[in-house]
Amino acid sequence: MLYTKPDYYKDFECIADQCEDTCCAGWQIVIDRDTLKKYTKIKGNFRKRMWRSVNWFRGTFKQDKEKRCAFLNDRNLCDLYLSQGEGGFCKTCREYPRHTEEFEGVREITLSISCPEVARILMNRMEPVQFISYEEEGDEEYEDFDPFFYSILEDARKEMITILQNRELSIVDRILLVLGMAHDMQGCMNRQEMFSCSDVIAKYTTKKAMQFAQNYQQKITNKEKEFNFAHTMFQHLFELELLKQEWGILLQETEDLLYQDKEKYHTIKKEFQEYLQSQIAVETSNYHHEEENATEHCNTQEDIHTKRQSINMDIHLEQLLVYFLFTYFPGAVYDGEIYAKAQLAVYCTWMIWEIWMARWIKNEKTLDLEEMTELVYRFSREVEHSDLNLRAVEEILSKKVFLSKK
Ligand code: SF4
Repeated sequence: MLYTKPDYYKDFECIADQCEDTCCAGWQIVIDRDTLKKYTKIKGNFRKRMWRSVNWFRGTFKQDKEKRCAFLNDRNLCDLYLSQGEGGFCKTCREYPRHTEEFEGVREITLSISCPEVARILMNRMEPVQFISYEEEGDEEYEDFDPFFYSILEDARKEMITILQNRELSIVDRILLVLGMAHDMQGCMNRQEMFSCSDVIAKYTTKKAMQFAQNYQQKITNKEKEFNFAHTMFQHLFELELLKQEWGILLQETEDLLYQDKEKYHTIKKEFQEYLQSQIAVETSNYHHEEENATEHCNTQEDIHTKRQSINMDIHLEQLLVYFLFTYFPGAVYDGEIYAKAQLAVYCTWMIWEIWMARWIKNEKTLDLEEMTELVYRFSREVEHSDLNLRAVEEILSKKVFLSKK
């Protein structure tokens, strides 16, 4: 069996009661069958608590009015863990925030950015993320699995990640190239010409493809259409199942701050971009200053990088795009929705950007990495952690949303 993980996987450690937002509240935790059976056999003082805290009919943990798990105590610690140790956890609790995508003979494991600690690791990460693969014993065969299609998707994703991590290109160019590649691959698939996909992948590494990205951007001149598009795409978030009331308030606040009229929207966007540029300038000058000090005080380069806290928007966007693309793109092997999966990565990242922009306005034109991180994990909790919501977003994006004629 081949396992693949991002290189920051090893850096994660649950911070338990130090966590600003526990993973044991706000969503329904389903208990796997084996653990449920084990729970029926618990003896001693804890038995009564167990019977009271589980919805045996649904196979879930009960919750209080605030949707907190019945085992979560006032210190945000798990009483089940305190009484039974790690062996008391069900599969979901044992694995979270690890997320596994399963393919024939392959397990792709990521860390979900719905966990504040994972979001913090990713948002503080300046270097491009690498993915590490290794083999372990055990194999399997799936009925109806197309290994050829999966290997094409894998090749494409590898190339897309290379493009997304090419910091010599603007972030918009990188996004357009990835969307273009996925779009053309979808065309091959619809025409049942999957063998042509390798030509498409190769095409998007050429200078001609870069030209396509630049030409496409020049064509985007209609501010009204751009504003309406952003507003419509944002409004889709209101159609999703609401897991936390506070999220609904945040969405409304974002809409009120950003989408009043096209002129205001474009002014905010321009000023926000200028603000972000000024942040990079501050970061660069701090970085050089720290580099000099490092020589004087014998600090290591690693120390310098861990100290960097300012915003570098292109890098944060790159990390999010790579995260979403890595996690969801190969899932197209099951439904053939190649373009929708690429659009999903772009849509989620873009919506987070819009929410950051609204927060910047709300904060009287300031923003810090901590707040950006908070908004990342809250977005992920609402959109990624409801199967219903993820399906709804995929449904919206199953149509051609990006790269349509301007
Ligand atoms: S959300 Fe993450 S850091 Fe917080 S308690 Fe859960 S696993 Fe630990």
